[in-house]
Amino acid sequence: MSRYENGQKVLIAGGGIVGLCCAYHLTKLGYKVTVVDRDSGYDGASYGNAGAIAAAEVLPFAGPGLLLKVPRWLFDPVGPLSIRWTHLHHLLPWLYLFLRSGTRIRSEAGARALASLLVSAIDDHQHILQQAGLTDLLQSKGALYVYRSKRGQEAEESGWNLRNRLGVRFTKLDRAALQEYEPDLGPLANGGYYVESFAHYSDPRALVVGLLEMVERMGVRLIADTVKELDQVGTRVTRVRTNKGAIFETDNLIIAAGAWSSALSKRLGEPFPLESERGYNTTISNPGVDISNYVAFVEDHFVMSPLSVGLRIGGAVELAGLKPPPNYDRCRALVKLGQRYVPNLKIENGRQWMGHRPSTPDSLPVISRSVFVKNAFYAFGHGHLGLTLSATTGRILADLVSGGSHGLDLTPFRIDRFTEVN
Ligand SMILES: Cc1cc2nc3c(=O)[nH]c(=O)nc-3n(C[C@H](O)[C@H](O)[C@H](O)COP(=O)(O)OP(=O)(O)OC[C@H]3O[C@@H](n4cnc5c(N)ncnc54)[C@H](O)[C@@H]3O)c2cc1C
Repeated sequence: MSRYENGQKVLIAGGGIVGLCCAYHLTKLGYKVTVVDRDSGYDGASYGNAGAIAAAEVLPFAGPGLLLKVPRWLFDPVGPLSIRWTHLHHLLPWLYLFLRSGTRIRSEAGARALASLLVSAIDDHQHILQQAGLTDLLQSKGALYVYRSKRGQEAEESGWNLRNRLGVRFTKLDRAALQEYEPDLGPLANGGYYVESFAHYSDPRALVVGLLEMVERMGVRLIADTVKELDQVGTRVTRVRTNKGAIFETDNLIIAAGAWSSALSKRLGEPFPLESERGYNTTISNPGVDISNYVAFVEDHFVMSPLSVGLRIGGAVELAGLKPPPNYDRCRALVKLGQRYVPNLKIENGRQWMGHRPSTPDSLPVISRSVFVKNAFYAFGHGHLGLTLSATTGRILADLVSGGSHGLDLTPFRIDRFTEVN
């Protein structure tokens, strides 16, 4: 029997953008796919994000110089990075690995690994969009990266040089050139870059809903429930049990449950240091200005994305775990920052949102087969790049499951890369 008509069952735990892209590619290869997602209210990270296919973002979050910046950020309760101190004892192992990943050698290796995935990100999205009839959702244009100070821009020059070496295409802009792109930018925007290696969705929620509809049309079973138990016989998962008492027999299991994935990987004997980097945004339907590009305000760690549903202003990293309620002061702080760069911005009646970025210490996703369980696979931990890398991950995962060739070195993305600390 060819692998294209194999009829084997795959159960995917998690139906965010990553799980859905896996479902698409596996169904194309002839697998019978079931997606179990507990969240019928569509609150996963994939629904409210900034919509960027950020193919230029090859630099891991932890990099040289970060240690100097972190203490200053931590003492600002609405700054770009904050920790809820009650969460600190859970966070320490992750923080240790995060800081350890920030050496020059480690972060450059991480950048090369990320670049190996990001190089095909836009093409991989376009492929799926064409199949889904959703090409209208994608704006194939670049992004602006804005600095407010010459010093800030110069301090990041080595990062831009590394991006350049890794194939990211960009052009340096002075203040006047920035304003030609975005006339509503005020004088605080001092200089920056136009980054070509980028694309942008007009509505991430419409994308996820469109993909859900497409995979359902292709025959994927969508189950609203929570994966609870994973029954093994020897070195294989044979059954998946849910909170509502359903039992699914399966030939293969994929864990793609975003920031909740490590609870499931642990059940297979493979714990992984995963944290939620909680991110915030506000979507303003009548912002009173006309921002037409995705704009990243680099020194202040937030972005503006022009969506069909309004101007979305967001960013921030809050390390507080999965349970505590959102702190929407962060949303208010971000829109106020937005007004500093775009003085005519109207910030009334914004819709606030918080999402859980599933984040690994080294900013690399887990795209891996299980080490111990022959028919289990992992697709999680995409952090700030989950939308960007979803289509690529789905393609690679389908090859991993089917034994096809993806042509990549997946060593940096293995589930057991931090084993010594778990
Ligand atoms: C403010 C913000 C802005 C962002 N902007 C961008 C951007 O512009 N570009 C980009 O590339 N990325 C961006 N991201 C990151 C991106 O949104 C995430 O990396 C991505 O959505 C993760 O997708 P996922 O499918 O892995 O997880 P999710 O979308 O979180 O999906 C996981 C799903 O698994 C379900 N689940 C969990 N546990 C179980 C269980 N036991 N059983 C069944 N189901 C379960 C959850 O309910 C959820 O629906 C942003 C994130 C935030 C917070």
